[in-house]
Amino acid sequence: MNSKVYQTVIVGAGFTGLFTALHLAHEHYPRSVILIDKNERFCFKPLLYEYFDGEMDTVQVVPRFSELLRGSGVIFVQDSVQSIDLHQREVKLASGDAYNYSNLVLALGSVTGYHHIEGARENAFPFWTQADAIALDKHLRHCLQTALQTTNPQQRRQLLTVVVVGGGASGIEMAATLGDFLPHWYDALGGDKSEIRVVLLNHGTEILDGDINDPLRSIAEQELNKRIVSVEIIKEAEATAVHQNAVEYKCRDRVETLPTSTTIWTAGTATHPLIQDLPISREHRDKRDRLLVTPTMQLLDFPEVFAGGDCAAVQDSSLPPTAQVAYQQGANIARNLKAIAFGEDPEPAKINIRGTLLKLGLNDAAANLFNAFEVAGEPAHLIRQGTYLTLLPTPIHDFKATTEWVNEEIFHHHLGTQDVSKKVVQAVELVGAGIVGTLVARKLLKMLGDEDKTDKVSRDK
Ligand SMILES: Cc1cc2nc3c(=O)[nH]c(=O)nc-3n(C[C@H](O)[C@H](O)[C@H](O)COP(=O)(O)OP(=O)(O)OC[C@H]3O[C@@H](n4cnc5c(N)ncnc54)[C@H](O)[C@@H]3O)c2cc1C
Repeated sequence: MNSKVYQTVIVGAGFTGLFTALHLAHEHYPRSVILIDKNERFCFKPLLYEYFDGEMDTVQVVPRFSELLRGSGVIFVQDSVQSIDLHQREVKLASGDAYNYSNLVLALGSVTGYHHIEGARENAFPFWTQADAIALDKHLRHCLQTALQTTNPQQRRQLLTVVVVGGGASGIEMAATLGDFLPHWYDALGGDKSEIRVVLLNHGTEILDGDINDPLRSIAEQELNKRIVSVEIIKEAEATAVHQNAVEYKCRDRVETLPTSTTIWTAGTATHPLIQDLPISREHRDKRDRLLVTPTMQLLDFPEVFAGGDCAAVQDSSLPPTAQVAYQQGANIARNLKAIAFGEDPEPAKINIRGTLLKLGLNDAAANLFNAFEVAGEPAHLIRQGTYLTLLPTPIHDFKATTEWVNEEIFHHHLGTQDVSKKVVQAVELVGAGIVGTLVARKLLKMLGDEDKTDKVSRDK
């Protein structure tokens, strides 16, 4: 190890890594910061559906790191990390370059997990990155074009059937998006939109089982049914093989084959291979092989190394692997790095889960706000979009330290004691006003003033 090195290296520039770097720059961290990512662009994953279906553009959803970090002092290196030597304090890159560090931040996220299902890795489409969204869009448009041209009804049916494997939040958001957009695209080409079929295969008896979004289950089921083409949910369906032209699944001991040219895989995540390769014992990992970290976000055996987001699990806690957690952990890691640089003690990270937001098709969503109440339909869509608009990372010169997942002020100070209908109206008013400005707020209040729509707002059971 080079003992003279005083630099902090961050590997992975997703929610944890990028926000650590942005906070360090904002706080005038006294050491040099090197941020490494294999991609040229940050990917705001919760909005990847909007990027895929064309509702939002590249600059918003996948901005360039060079733009975000201009003037920040953070050194961005676009390269793939090949290996991490915790003992030598060295990170090696695909280009052959290597960086020593005094502090390291592990922020590599997670990867798609295929659970060794035959043909899944080779034949199913993942939906994880900008490249995945582009590849899927290209493939689907090709399928629709070919379906228009073929005279073979069986082939047309196969081309117009899309199967989404996995009834978690990602699968539901994807199926709902397709249930609105595929018919729209096919119709625009002159096809018969009623021929489109979107099928969601769910392993268990319930969608969103064990997911942070599970309070939104019944809303999600209703809304999936209301898409332009309603999404068919097949429950207790375990995918057993994925072929180029079909997916096989086992349902109550029967093996079924569903012909399709498009299988989309949202059925699982796995720990990043570089994280698996680290010399960290089983006891210092959780059961999914993620790295256990102290409440201050440091590795148990290597306190100079911080880890956050999808690749880490905080000891004695059960935070979900989500962007809202990763982003807040990034801010906390930055605070602790600065404390260490100034000879102070790092402090435990405080993470607030303020609610969950689920996209359920065009102009439709569901929001579970602070586990207190739920909102569905267009108001939820506006809350979701507004929330994410405040979170989109902006170039460092516009960086707002006050940016929060959903402003705590709204939930703690304004929702404390009132009855729920007032709470909903006020939350929506405040979220709208605070986030997307008076235009959206007016629209929300107008909608909420409409008696007919009040049934869209329901209290948590
Ligand atoms: C489609 C989709 C929708 C989602 N929607 C939501 C949502 O609505 N709400 C929510 O809270 N969460 C959502 N999530 C989950 C959320 O995006 C993740 O929990 C979050 O991104 C985790 O942050 P992270 O920093 O740990 O990892 P990431 O944000 O995934 O960042 C990891 C970074 O590491 C980089 N990297 C990986 N390997 C290497 C390597 N070898 N070398 C260099 N760089 C590397 C990657 O390029 C990436 O930039 C969604 C995820 C997906 C895929």
